[in-house]
Amino acid sequence: DLVAAARAGALAPVPAARPGPDGRGGPWPNDPYAPGEQRYRVLRSLVTGERTADAVLTALEDAGLRGMGGAGFPTGRKWKLVAAQPDGPKYAVCNADESEPGTFKDRQILAEQAHLVLEGLLLGMVVVGAEEGWVFIRHEYGPEEAVLREEIEFLRGEGLLGDDVAGSGRRLSVEIFTSPGGYILGEESALLECMEGHRGEPRNKPPFPGTYGLWGRPTLMNSVETLADVPVIVERGAGWWQDQGVGGSTGLKFFAVSGDVARPGVYCVPMGTTVGGLLEAAGGMADGATLAAVQPGGASSNFLGPDRLDVRLDFDTLAEAGSMLGSGAMVVMAEGTDLLAAATNVLRFFRNESCGKCVPCRVGSAKAYVLLTEALADGGLDESRRTVLAELETVLRKTSICGLGQVALGPVVSVLGLERGGAVARPQPRD
Ligand code: SF4
Repeated sequence: DLVAAARAGALAPVPAARPGPDGRGGPWPNDPYAPGEQRYRVLRSLVTGERTADAVLTALEDAGLRGMGGAGFPTGRKWKLVAAQPDGPKYAVCNADESEPGTFKDRQILAEQAHLVLEGLLLGMVVVGAEEGWVFIRHEYGPEEAVLREEIEFLRGEGLLGDDVAGSGRRLSVEIFTSPGGYILGEESALLECMEGHRGEPRNKPPFPGTYGLWGRPTLMNSVETLADVPVIVERGAGWWQDQGVGGSTGLKFFAVSGDVARPGVYCVPMGTTVGGLLEAAGGMADGATLAAVQPGGASSNFLGPDRLDVRLDFDTLAEAGSMLGSGAMVVMAEGTDLLAAATNVLRFFRNESCGKCVPCRVGSAKAYVLLTEALADGGLDESRRTVLAELETVLRKTSICGLGQVALGPVVSVLGLERGGAVARPQPRD
């Protein structure tokens, strides 16, 4: 059946690959449960009072866990903020609307670690005082949604969801909200608007969802990967999590690796692994090709050239290198790839997915795309057009109200920077 097939990986879009002696096989390192072992013991310990909410918050803060959805906000601080809001209805949402081109790590986590995602969400609900939670899932993730639904039924059967969870008198409810579709719904406030039945457009922030979220109430929102990391941190402690990182970074990181690599797939590696190290884990370049560039954080991240293999994959180092960890997707491109065409294709995606709420993004992304394609059809990007593109990038980055507009032109500008005075390759218009 669908669930069994998803669990067996038959419906996964790519083969799963895990760290280990040969770069694959073995359990995911963020799973504290051995195969066949009784799950949800971290949640049980919290709802029965063996463990306190303060202990969970302290573990998360000491571990230094940061949001893996792209923003990198400290998870413990977010949970503390929502917990500190005045009494009254509070909500929790797992953002599983993974839609960035090249990004498919959450899909693997949902298929194989739905128990950790749900345990992380329920731990968050107990800590902040929310009774109702949702997993907002991308509508194309049908097999993964089936796994989640089966796991939720299991939780009900175990008495870990319902009106009297584990005899504690506490009510906990988790439901699935299937996204109607649209990249922008992965933006946290657009997601909330969608759940409220409105057009899915981002809100002006602040206020942030932690204080003014679903139906105006404090709402805890975390990504799939962030929540899946919580149980192991609470169980094994902050020190264990910190020790998983390398090169001064803490913890583990899932990456979707795609493009011109020998073994595309989902990898879980120490945070702080270098670009070259992750490339090596994925089997190196496909067919002996030579590396031209990588996007280390998904389609919206700036390109890094082959001279940046030593850059460490973590939030701060990538930001210093002029790129970002983003959605945790390393896209690898070999020599011979038209990098400007690839970056223009990313821009076209963002132009198409712009919700149109704010002028800089709505007008600027379309204008930049037309400028790029027309100018190159005319024979190349002259200096004045490069200047206009750079100005548009600055305006979009500084004045768009959400991340889509802020990053839409970054890859294009980074490729133009990479060319360092060389001839500009011609993108292929794809409209
Ligand atoms: Fe919509 Fe773009 Fe403005 Fe974001 S930046 S709110 S996607 S128009």
